[in-house]
Amino acid sequence: MFKTVQNQFNKTADLIDLNPNIRKILAITNNELIVHFPVKMDNGKVEIFTGYRVQHNNALGPYKGGLRYHPTVDVDAAKALAMWMTWKTSLAGLPYGGAKGGIQIDPRNYSLSELERITRRFTYALGENIGPEHDIPAPDVNTNAQTMAWIADTYMSTKSTSERSQNQHVVTGKPVGSGGLEGRDRATGFGVFLCIKLYFEALGETLNGKTFNVQGFGNVGYWASHFLVQEGAKLLSVQDAHATIFNSEGIDVESLFEHSKPRKGSIEGFSEAKEIDPEEFFGLACDILIPAALGNQITEDNAYKIQAKLIAEGANGPTNDEGESILLERGIPIIPDILCNSGGVIGSYFEWLQNRNGELWQLDEVMEKLEKKITQVFKNVAAEVDQRQVDWRTAAYIIAIARIEMAYVQRGIFP
Ligand code: GLU
Repeated sequence: MFKTVQNQFNKTADLIDLNPNIRKILAITNNELIVHFPVKMDNGKVEIFTGYRVQHNNALGPYKGGLRYHPTVDVDAAKALAMWMTWKTSLAGLPYGGAKGGIQIDPRNYSLSELERITRRFTYALGENIGPEHDIPAPDVNTNAQTMAWIADTYMSTKSTSERSQNQHVVTGKPVGSGGLEGRDRATGFGVFLCIKLYFEALGETLNGKTFNVQGFGNVGYWASHFLVQEGAKLLSVQDAHATIFNSEGIDVESLFEHSKPRKGSIEGFSEAKEIDPEEFFGLACDILIPAALGNQITEDNAYKIQAKLIAEGANGPTNDEGESILLERGIPIIPDILCNSGGVIGSYFEWLQNRNGELWQLDEVMEKLEKKITQVFKNVAAEVDQRQVDWRTAAYIIAIARIEMAYVQRGIFP
């Protein structure tokens, strides 16, 4: 993934003739933190865990980005994901930089109370490397509002009583009862849906009758599907780490979601669709393909057989360079991750503002603001696509990088 993000950056830097000094700065990550910490397991034994936080750039504001719990988490993955966050927040016009991190574990192997202790001890190990005005984590793969509540509580517990409440916005994506934002749960999926809708609207088409396939049925995959079917689109196939299911009549999104809940999110064993060979997934005909799981999924191994008319990247970095070249040559456009899934971090920004100002926003107010912001970002990218005659990712990168370049040019380099 790091190679992918580097190539994407270099391509844009060449194209816009990026100031060579700024190019040097943006090509590296500012800080890379690795922490090892002990946690007592339910059986009384102590296990050592390894956690990461990479802070790429903070020219535009505090570092911002999720924490994921997954066996693939390492420094390289966190570096790539942190860079994508920098471009994402810049593109969205938010006052943030980019960071990412997590713990190298498969959370399915731990009980809820073990996960709580792992999370709290990780937060303690990160110490002042995170902070409400310095680096603000959020949910990502396999972390959720509960994880964020533990982080916020642990971080706030290390502060004096009078300072506690000023630190609630150390993380976003908290439960609504603990300073979280109404609608933050659906913000990413809503953004994916809205980008797809706007894309077809520009072609004079609606979503009614369009078919779509989703890889990953977590927070992003579920909510994107939820909003798409509301506009008359039909979900044909879903793939997750455990199963690939298909129904030509359409999969009922809400009943699949109910099915997955007691199964730690897995779609396995859903009786209202047939299980198919995972290898078939990317070759299935559909109008819209939504990779909403992990990185590096669309590659030279499968891009040639994709039949979708549009790829909407719910995940971060789901398409590698080779996969992207094949798709673009075949005339299949990609709404890139830094635009397509930016609803999540935009929602996070709203939560951060809400906490900082001691406000409580209503759901309809949040959704309205979200729609307005995502539409504006989408239209900015669409205009750049038209003007420069480039693909969507390149257009998004041009806007994101130019904004950071301007900040550096205005301020110069200390000392
Ligand atoms: N993990 C999400 C992302 O990749 C959200 C990050 C955030 O809200 O800070 O964009």
